[in-house]
Amino acid sequence: MTAPTPLIAGNWKMNGLSASLAEAEAIARGVGDCPGRVAICPPAVLTHQMAEALSGTRVLVGGQDAHWDDFGAFTGDISAEMLADVGAKLVILGHSERREGYRETDEIVAKKAQAALRAGLEPIVCVGETLAQRKAGEALAVVTGQVRGSLPPELAGQAFSVAYEPVWAIGTGLTPTTPEIEEVHRAIRATLVEMFGEAGRAPPILYGGSVKPGNAAEILHADEVGGALVGGASLKAADFLAIVQAL
Ligand code: PEP
Repeated sequence: MTAPTPLIAGNWKMNGLSASLAEAEAIARGVGDCPGRVAICPPAVLTHQMAEALSGTRVLVGGQDAHWDDFGAFTGDISAEMLADVGAKLVILGHSERREGYRETDEIVAKKAQAALRAGLEPIVCVGETLAQRKAGEALAVVTGQVRGSLPPELAGQAFSVAYEPVWAIGTGLTPTTPEIEEVHRAIRATLVEMFGEAGRAPPILYGGSVKPGNAAEILHADEVGGALVGGASLKAADFLAIVQAL
């Protein structure tokens, strides 16, 4: 089986106004012929405008979360179908900020992944251990447990990716060592193969957590790293493009 096509996805979180579309357009102008796929996941309210601004470019637009139901009485929530309707192609699910801040369990993330598939969105499912769990030697067990619990069987043969994001590395400037990243990514790959057979070799496994222009090349060339989920450094076109170019 050929190596998974890498994906670099920018997670803008709750940052960005209409004026920030210029930054997304600058990213689209700069991606050139990089060997992977590139996506930006803006706040939901910018999805439509960004998808229009980037249509015809190589940069895909994604959501940062979606509800597990297709429609209904869920005040303030957004369905996967709504994101797809305004031009999103992917959706981040189970980000640690959602798992921690909104009590999202593996079961909820798996239901959201099913909803994303129904809407034709490609899920990026996030997993990752806390610092306390790493210190207790539980990182591999926690992460592989999240992979088993958050990926529904319907993903077999579908396009999706897993993002390994150690909670303690997000927005902190701290990163695991390259051997630590490789150890977790290999464990995720083994779990994917256990769950989906040979099809489990196809999804890229992204690394996320303080990826910057200065560390991107080393991380992106590590074993079983198939791209990156980038938070802070995706907000500035120059930084994000430097990461894309490190592929
Ligand atoms: C993230 O939140 O997905 C992330 C990786 O953030 P940062 O790159 O800022 O650590």
